[in-house]
Amino acid sequence: MKVSKILMAAAMLGSMMLASCGGEGEQQSNAAETSVAGSKASSSKVSSSKFSAVWSKDASLHVEPTCDAEGKDVEVCLNSSAPNKETVLPKKAHTWGTKSAKVEAEGKTGYWTNECSVCHTKAIIIDALNWTKIEGSNKDSSGATLKFSTNGNYAEYEFNMPQALTNVTVGVYGWVDYWKDGSNNNDQRGFFSTKAGDGSANVGVKINDTDLTITNTKTYEEMGMTAGENGNSSFCLCEMGTVASIAAGDFKLTYTRLESYNLNITEIWLMYK
Ligand SMILES: [Zn+2]
Repeated sequence: MKVSKILMAAAMLGSMMLASCGGEGEQQSNAAETSVAGSKASSSKVSSSKFSAVWSKDASLHVEPTCDAEGKDVEVCLNSSAPNKETVLPKKAHTWGTKSAKVEAEGKTGYWTNECSVCHTKAIIIDALNWTKIEGSNKDSSGATLKFSTNGNYAEYEFNMPQALTNVTVGVYGWVDYWKDGSNNNDQRGFFSTKAGDGSANVGVKINDTDLTITNTKTYEEMGMTAGENGNSSFCLCEMGTVASIAAGDFKLTYTRLESYNLNITEIWLMYK
């Protein structure tokens, strides 16, 4: 149902939800009053030589984000012909089901599969603790996560890719040093992101010997991590970047520590449709 700009303006005035966003320019004193169908409520915002643009979210133009597509909020100006303001709303997290039984082959890396019940994005989930080759110390003290102690350490994973994939989002399930008291948050140096520092990520991923371009620019919080009492953040599935295609057949992924901060992972995800 389409709600007219004027009716929307009147409704918003009644519920005191107006927001003023400062001067938009010179105009006659009654400009705002006229544009909101004679409402007197806005007249106090109008000076003799300038007016304040009055913005209001238009529910009829709002697009709710899904796990498959970004959404948007749209604000319309109630008292001028200024173009609408749009705010992009990030995609929501997928709703993953139960992992499949593990697919294993002798001398190869084991992996699971999964599927989002909402958008039907699929995932091949590589067991990060089941490498075919490794360089450097490799597990945390409990043996539960892959953890490198030295820059340049890496692990390789190989298996027979069951089908060709296109537009594959590469994610890592793991955690970083993220202290609740803020004493050592690595300046938001994402291991799975280029958010801070010199704009490079602290890990490298190669797929069939080609570098993955890491395009993730999120902070820890935006990736869904929660700071821990002793520095250990919560586990989180962090999307790092996208690769255009992966061929069926021989597949190799290499995961390398590039800079001296702790990183712990258990899985590497390849997500595709
Ligand atoms: Zn989904």
